[in-house]
Amino acid sequence: MTLAHRLHEWFLANQRDLPWRKTRDPYAIWLSEIMLQQTRVAAVIPYYQRFLERFPDYSTLANASESELLAMWSGLGYYSRARNLHKAAQMMVDAGGFPNTYESIRALPGVGDYTAAAVASIAFGMPRVGLDGNIVRVMARWTAEAGDVKQNATRLRLLETAQNNIDRKNPGIYKQSLMELGATICLPKAPKCLYCPINDDCDAKLQGLQNTIPIQLGKQKAISEEKVVLWIVRGLQVLLWQRNGDSRRLAGFWELPEPEMLTGVEAGQELGIFSHSIVNHKYRFILREGKLRGSAGDLLKWVRLEKLKELPISTVLRKSLRLLKLDPRRERKEGVS
Ligand code: SF4
Repeated sequence: MTLAHRLHEWFLANQRDLPWRKTRDPYAIWLSEIMLQQTRVAAVIPYYQRFLERFPDYSTLANASESELLAMWSGLGYYSRARNLHKAAQMMVDAGGFPNTYESIRALPGVGDYTAAAVASIAFGMPRVGLDGNIVRVMARWTAEAGDVKQNATRLRLLETAQNNIDRKNPGIYKQSLMELGATICLPKAPKCLYCPINDDCDAKLQGLQNTIPIQLGKQKAISEEKVVLWIVRGLQVLLWQRNGDSRRLAGFWELPEPEMLTGVEAGQELGIFSHSIVNHKYRFILREGKLRGSAGDLLKWVRLEKLKELPISTVLRKSLRLLKLDPRRERKEGVS
């Protein structure tokens, strides 16, 4: 049996029950693939379901306000994805439909080679495959790839192998099965080779190299940092600041102030600690009660707590609200407004 057939059989029997696997609607598949970029499956599921409920098609999404879209995306991270979704939906309205060639899908903002291939193969049955972390790992191990998987030449070799072994009748299942194998069996640490459907001809396994491959030279170490953020309230209002619209990260999002931003502020009692990673930085955030002695200045604004559920708020603010048991999304779900 070919690689594709073994993967296909295994996938049908073992795949996880994920909401985007129940549809062939290109819009829904595109939405899931954008959400899954850099984000774990478990985190994406509730966002995907809420999004599809509120924006069931590209025209509804195109007509939504950016602020509402960002508020719905709040907590999922990498916010340029939400802005690109919005722009892409507006392009679809102008074009009168969802793009239906690989090149036109690839031309949408926020869509790279991998996402274009995923949408093209799953929604339209086109024989295309792209590389994500899972597929790179599976292909590198299956061929016992000796090169650095961060190098272009190595990635091209792996892409060629993945593309040459594609199931032309079921390219969508082929792509999903490779991804699923990487996510559940061919894990980065301690792959479960015993349960793997391609273990009898996996070169890394046959050579005892499954824990050495993929090779990544010069992997950067994470940088750890500590930060204090302040919870300053006045009645039912909290003191926040909003990032500029042209900020490189989180443009337009609301944040808690840090002590350096204010004069005449006293950092008081510790309210909790949480961690948050941004790219290569691992932050340890300490949330402290703040007491304002002077004026809030021009940068900061008093915002009513009940307004927070309508505003785009950063993950740091969301995690702080959760610590204080004030998560606006949970309140909305439970019907408390
Ligand atoms: S046999 Fe092991 S290393 Fe090879 S693809 Fe399967 S899980 Fe990965």
